[in-house]
Amino acid sequence: MWSFENDPAFQPELDWIDTFVREKVQPLDYILGSQWDIHDPEFIRLVRPLQAEVKARGLWACHLGPELGGPGYGQLKLALMNEKFGMSRFGPITFGTQAPDTGNSEILAHFGTADQKKRYLEPLLANEVVSCFSMTEPQGGADPLLFRTSAVREGDEWVINGEKWFASEAETAAFYIMMVVTDPDAESPYERASMFIIDTDTPGIEIVHNYGFYGEPDDTHAHLRLTDVRVPDSAMLGGPGQAFAIAQTRLGGGRMHHAMRTLAQATRAFEMTCERVVSRSTKGEVLARKQMVQEKIADSWVQLRQFRLLILETAWLADQGNDWKSIRKNVSAVKAIMPGVLNDIASRALHLHGSLGLSHEMPFAEWVINSFHIGLADGPTEVHKMVVAREVLKDFEVEEAQFPSYIRHQQVERARALYGTGDTTP
Ligand SMILES: Cc1cc2nc3c(=O)[nH]c(=O)nc-3n(C[C@H](O)[C@H](O)[C@H](O)COP(=O)(O)OP(=O)(O)OC[C@H]3O[C@@H](n4cnc5c(N)ncnc54)[C@H](O)[C@@H]3O)c2cc1C
Repeated sequence: MWSFENDPAFQPELDWIDTFVREKVQPLDYILGSQWDIHDPEFIRLVRPLQAEVKARGLWACHLGPELGGPGYGQLKLALMNEKFGMSRFGPITFGTQAPDTGNSEILAHFGTADQKKRYLEPLLANEVVSCFSMTEPQGGADPLLFRTSAVREGDEWVINGEKWFASEAETAAFYIMMVVTDPDAESPYERASMFIIDTDTPGIEIVHNYGFYGEPDDTHAHLRLTDVRVPDSAMLGGPGQAFAIAQTRLGGGRMHHAMRTLAQATRAFEMTCERVVSRSTKGEVLARKQMVQEKIADSWVQLRQFRLLILETAWLADQGNDWKSIRKNVSAVKAIMPGVLNDIASRALHLHGSLGLSHEMPFAEWVINSFHIGLADGPTEVHKMVVAREVLKDFEVEEAQFPSYIRHQQVERARALYGTGDTTP
C-alpha cells in the first residue's frame, strides 16, 4: 500500500505539537541561554512546566521504542515529530528528545547492565541530568582509527589517559560516554576501543577550553584532558572492543533526527522568505513578481520536498525492521545532502531579506553557520558520500568485455534476435 498521508489517528498529536512549539516553546529561544543548562533557575521556571504538559499528553521521550522500554511510535512518526520540534532551539529538550541524550539513552538501553540503566538511563530519560558523547580527539575527528585516548587495566580498575575534542555539553553533563582504546593490538582496528561511562566529577578530568561558534548562546564544546582517570570495571558499556559497534547503533537514529530538525529549520527560513517576498516591493512591484526571485522560491521548495521524501523513506525503511547498518546507504544520503539543503535555503532567505536578512534581527546567518556544523558533526559530508557510493556500487558486477554490453550495435543485434528484422528499425 502506498500513501503520502499521515496516520489520521496521529495527526491531532502533530497538530498539537505544532501549535505548542510555535506558541509556547519558540519564545524561549529569545530569552534563555543554552538549552542544556537544566539547573539554571530560569530553565526550571520556564521549561519544566512545558515539559510537564508534554508528559501529560504522552509525548515525552518518544525516541525509544517499546522494545527498548520507551513509549516511541517508530521512526516515521518520530521523524514527523522532529519536524515540529526542530522549529525551536528549545523544542527537543521540551519533548525529552535532545541530542546527544537521545543517542546516549539509546545505547544505554541497548547495551547497559541493569545497574547502568538504573544509575544513568533513568535520570537521563527523566531529564534530571544531561550527558555528553565523546569520541573525537584533537589529532583526528573524521578518522576514528587515529584516536589515542587509552585505558590500561590495573586490578579491577581502568586508568584512562588522553585528550578529547569538541565534546558537546561536557560542562553541563553528569556523565560522559567515551570511546577509549583498550586493546591497541587487536587484529581488527575496529575492535581496539571500548566505551566507558564516566561521571564528569571523576578526579583527573579537566576542561582545557570550551569552544563555541557563531549563533550559539554559550561555548559548550569542550577540549578535555584526562590524566590517570580511574574507573571501575563496571563503567564499561557493552563488551571490550565494542565501541565502534555501539557508536554505530546511536549514530543512525541520531543522524535521522538531526535531519528532520534541519528540515524544520530550513522550512522556517523558507516560510519567512515567502512572507517577505510577497510583502516587499521594489521598482513598482512586489519581489514575488520578479522571475529571479521566483526561481529562488521554486528551488528552495523543491529542495525541501526532495529532502523530506528521502528522510521519510529512510524512516519508513527503519520501521520495516531494517537495522541502521542495513540501510546506511539511505542514512548517509540523508546526512550528505542535509548541510547543502540548509545552506542553500538559509542563504537565499538571508539574501532575499536584504540588509535586514544579514542583521542580528534575523536568524539566517546563524542557520547558515549551522549548516557547516551539521556537515561536520556525526561524520563529514565527504565520508557519507563515500558510503553512499560504496553501497550503491556493491550492486554492480565487473564487465570483463572491452566494451559495455549496452553498446548500441550489440543492443540492436539482441533486439533483432528477439524480434526479427522488420522495416521499422531506426
Ligand atoms: C558543533 C559540533 C559539535 C560536535 N560535537 C561532538 C561531540 O559531542 N562529540 C564528539 O565526539 N565529536 C563532536 N564533534 C566533532 C565532529 O565529529 C568532528 O568535527 C568531525 O568528525 C570532523 O572531524 P574534524 O573536525 O577533526 O575535521 P577533520 O577530520 O580534520 O576534517 C577536515 C576536513 O576534511 C574533510 N574530510 C574529512 N574526511 C575526509 C575524507 N575522507 N575525504 C575528503 N574530505 C574529508 C572534512 O569534511 C573537513 O572539511 C562536533 C563537531 C561540531 C562541529
